[in-house]
This record gives sequence, C-alpha cells and structure tokens, in this order.
Amino acid sequence: MKKKLDYRGRISLEVTDLLSEVRKIMEVIIAHAAGTCFGVQAAINVAEEKRKPILGPLVHNPKIVGDLAREGIPIYDRYSDIAGLKEEGLTDVVITAHGYPKELKEELTKHGITYHDATCPVLLKWVYKKIETFDHQGADIVIIGNPEHAEIIASRTYASKPLHAVYTEAQIDALPNDLQNVVVICQTTITKEKFDSLVEYLRRTKYPNLKAVDTRCKPVKNQQGAVESLAQWVDAMLIVGGYDSSNTTNLAKISQQYLPEKTYHIDSPDLIKAEWFENVEHLGLGAGTSTPQSQIQDVLQRIVELSPTSVELRQTTKEGDVVGMDVAVETETM
Ligand code: SF4
Repeated sequence: MKKKLDYRGRISLEVTDLLSEVRKIMEVIIAHAAGTCFGVQAAINVAEEKRKPILGPLVHNPKIVGDLAREGIPIYDRYSDIAGLKEEGLTDVVITAHGYPKELKEELTKHGITYHDATCPVLLKWVYKKIETFDHQGADIVIIGNPEHAEIIASRTYASKPLHAVYTEAQIDALPNDLQNVVVICQTTITKEKFDSLVEYLRRTKYPNLKAVDTRCKPVKNQQGAVESLAQWVDAMLIVGGYDSSNTTNLAKISQQYLPEKTYHIDSPDLIKAEWFENVEHLGLGAGTSTPQSQIQDVLQRIVELSPTSVELRQTTKEGDVVGMDVAVETETM
C-alpha cells in the first residue's frame, strides 16, 4: 500500500477497502525551533569552505561528523599534540563550535598553524566577552556546566585565572569559601532548572551575595521551552540528536519529567520501533541544536513507514500554537 503526504501533510491510504483506517490518525507535532541552530550551521559552513583537518568532532552529532569524514575532511583529537601536528606538516586546522582553550590557540599560532575558528558566535562575542568583563572587574567566576565538556574547558581559559567549574552539589562543597565578588554563569546548553537549583545551592551554602547571570543561548532556551510545553500534553516524545550532545540530552531529560516511560532519545531513524506508536494519538518530536534538518526528515520518513495509522504532521509555533505543515514525505509500505 502506498502512503503519501498530501499538501496539508495528511497521509492518504490509497486503498479504498481500508478507508476506515484513514480516519485513525497519529498527529506528529514537531517542537518549534527543532534542529540546527545558527552556531552549528556557521561551523558547518566553515568546515565545508576550508576543508582542513578539524580538531575534534565539529559538533556533537554523528551524522554531521560522519558526513564531513565521508567528504574526506580529517578529524583529529581535539587536544592533539600541537608540535606533533606541525611535524606532520599541518598548516591549517579548524576549531570546533564548542570553542578552544586560549593558550592552545596561541600555541597553534606559535607553531605556524593557522586556525579557522568555527567557535559559535554566542561564545566568541557574548560569553567570552562577559567573562573578560567580570574578570576585569575583579570577580571570582563560577561556571555551572560539565567540567569535562569542550565548551567549559575552553571557556575557563578566557579569564586571567581559571574559572571554577561545577556541575554537582559535591563540586560546590569543594569550592573555596573565600572567593570574592562571585559571579555565576553557565554552559550555554544546560537546563534552567539545573542553573536555578545550583545557583540557589551556591547562594545558600557558600556565597550569599553572588551575582547570577544566565548565559544559556537563545536557541537552547527556545528548544527547551518548546519541548517542555509539548511533553505536557502529547502521548509520547521522540528526541532526535547525538548522545554526546549536551543540549539534546537535556531535551530528553526535560521530556522525561512528563513522560518518563514514553520519551525516546534516538540518534538514528533506524532505532525507531513500531511498538512506540501503539495507542499514541499525539507524538511530539524535539531535536537538538546540532541535529540537521535532513535527519529530522529521515525520522519523519521512518515514522510514516512504521505507523499503523495515518500520520498528520504539525508543528508548534513560537507562541505555542499548533499548526499544520507543508511537507513532502512519501513512502511505500507493506
Ligand atoms: S547551541 Fe547555542 S552556543 Fe551552541 S552552537 Fe548553537 S547557538 Fe551556539
């Protein structure tokens, strides 16, 4: 039987004796702003234009990284030995969207290696500027974020002394008690809940007069808000994006608060199972800022293939309304 989306996104089953099936519909509602943000797109543009070795995964999405590798662009360890790179004859490298430690950029320059900086403009032009400003004002800066994440490793180096990175209450307990003029910022991709709860803990247990500045980026805030709204009323949620992606993982955590058993985080359409759609009339779909639109399309295609009923595609708007979509997804089914 042929399943086909018409101009309103409605699948019509082109078999008359199954006409009754047409009346059973699963609505797939795509969260507003799902998919690639401007920072990730800019990084892809730099990588594709320069076509030079990249120091680490350009973004935390296996499809994007795999596509670049298939195009013949080498991917090196993020913190490769720079003298060794020079000995290998490298003249140019690309720095990933997450940023790169200041002293390592200087070392690249010292060794005559040109770096093409794909660091997200939000970090370069906003977060690092804030860090430098607070640093010049004599603040001790605490950054809430995963200390192992490339963004935090880089951001910590943009002050005259390393920022204190914390992601748990135990790490806060270990901070010195005598920090002065404490300013708290955060990783661009964490949840508001995480930021608020650790700021509250810092204030209560360590620095009552701290100044908190929420440095989550706008695309992340938009996507988190859209997924949170959607997860409250749909029957199940698919979250699409890399498992290493901080913002995608956080979208899944937000959704799990409302749908603990019915949130599915996938990094490939091949992982979708038909049983996830049993008794599901409304399926929400969110995607991280590093998830390309082509991957979202592949997921929609797979949903259409596996759904036991007709599928109608909708999306949420910035204002939270649900509207239809003009889409083209077509598939042959058994
Ligand atoms: S998620 Fe935010 S910080 Fe990260 S690349 Fe996108 S815009 Fe930049």
